[in-house]
Amino acid sequence: MIPRLRPPLPLRTIVSAALGRERDPVARFEAKFAEQFGFPHALYFAYGRSALRALLEALGWQDEEVVLPAYTCAVVPHAVKLSGNRVRFVDSAKDHFNVPAQNLEARLTSATKMTILTPLFGYPVDRKKCQRAIDSVAPESFVLYDAAHGFACEDRSGVQLESAQGAIFGLGIGKCISTLFGGMLLLRDDALCAEVRAYRDRHHAPAKQRRALSQILYGVATWAAFREPIFSPVAGLESRTPLLDRFTRYYYGQDGISFPADHDTLPTDYQARLGLAQLDDFERLAARRWANSQRYEWRLQQQDFEVFAAAGVATYSQFPLEVVDREGVIADLRRRGVQLGRLVDYCCPDLPGYEAEAAESYPNARRFAERMVNLPNWPGLSVGQIDRVIDALCESRAEHPELYLVPPAVATASAKSRGLPVVK
Ligand SMILES: *Cc1c(COP(=O)(O)O)cnc(C)c1O
Repeated sequence: MIPRLRPPLPLRTIVSAALGRERDPVARFEAKFAEQFGFPHALYFAYGRSALRALLEALGWQDEEVVLPAYTCAVVPHAVKLSGNRVRFVDSAKDHFNVPAQNLEARLTSATKMTILTPLFGYPVDRKKCQRAIDSVAPESFVLYDAAHGFACEDRSGVQLESAQGAIFGLGIGKCISTLFGGMLLLRDDALCAEVRAYRDRHHAPAKQRRALSQILYGVATWAAFREPIFSPVAGLESRTPLLDRFTRYYYGQDGISFPADHDTLPTDYQARLGLAQLDDFERLAARRWANSQRYEWRLQQQDFEVFAAAGVATYSQFPLEVVDREGVIADLRRRGVQLGRLVDYCCPDLPGYEAEAAESYPNARRFAERMVNLPNWPGLSVGQIDRVIDALCESRAEHPELYLVPPAVATASAKSRGLPVVK
């Protein structure tokens, strides 16, 4: 079975970070992270959500308006709400899960204090037009990029984060760089960084060093969980029981607006060492993820699957595909030896706690919430494995066309007309 993800932590990193002795790894990780992504300042937190909440609370805002996508990770609006501020959601585009500038412009107001731009799944946002909308409607708004998926993604003018006043990154298990848990806040302004740092010193407690021991065990467990012989039985279990809900629904707080109990416990030196080791490898891993995704784009288009446009250089934290019957596709692909992900399978305004926001309509975000699957594209996947995923999708669509967007008759006719081999 091909797993939907593989944490980017090789066993040798998990072990060597445990043996590391260099001093002050947290400060070094922050400095190196800031440099890698082009910011002067970085602050490391328990989670990405903790970083956002700390920023909002350090700014001292109450009941202020924060504009963000409806189709995003639930922890983002949770952080805004828990900081005592208001969320204002924006719908995705009809043909793309990202927020287009015109939808953004329609939802911004002169009272918008912060705008969160999210290159979801690592697909660049329309940076120029979004910035123009912000400049014209809410010029005072703080521009924060949620780079949890975006990392270093680029558009035609360069790295998207160049336009950000701040950025948050998630460093949990499914992310491009992972310190098991963790989140990073990058900032440009010296004074603001000093304020958030002071806030963090006051409100977040250092971890007890024995916490690192359970993290090492957890690291080994996640390493093993995505490899055979453990992976297939566990994947079967996940599909049949709610046993692993702790890592999915509960983790993202889909059952209400809440944070985990350790949201204000600072990461350990061990986690920082894991991060330092991966930053050295970031370019190489990102290049492999990109190459995998290019192969999906190229071959799936040949087979008349509709793939999402990536305007620029996407980082493809996931490879997303819209289908008609998600659960049907996931079950059928599992039978064919491929595990698919369903990373953002909700529309934030429809979650418990957002009843007031749900009064607006977000038809596109709702459709993506119901229909999106993620194909495995982690670094280390072989070309042969990628082709097996594509073949499995083609075979599945040929047998169950109703599960997919494009009827196979169209695909077959068009493949034949171009002299391509037709998958039966
Ligand atoms: C993972 C993620 C975050 C941060 O998540 P934490 O679990 O709080 O570290 C933020 N935004 C998006 C889109 C994410 O996927």
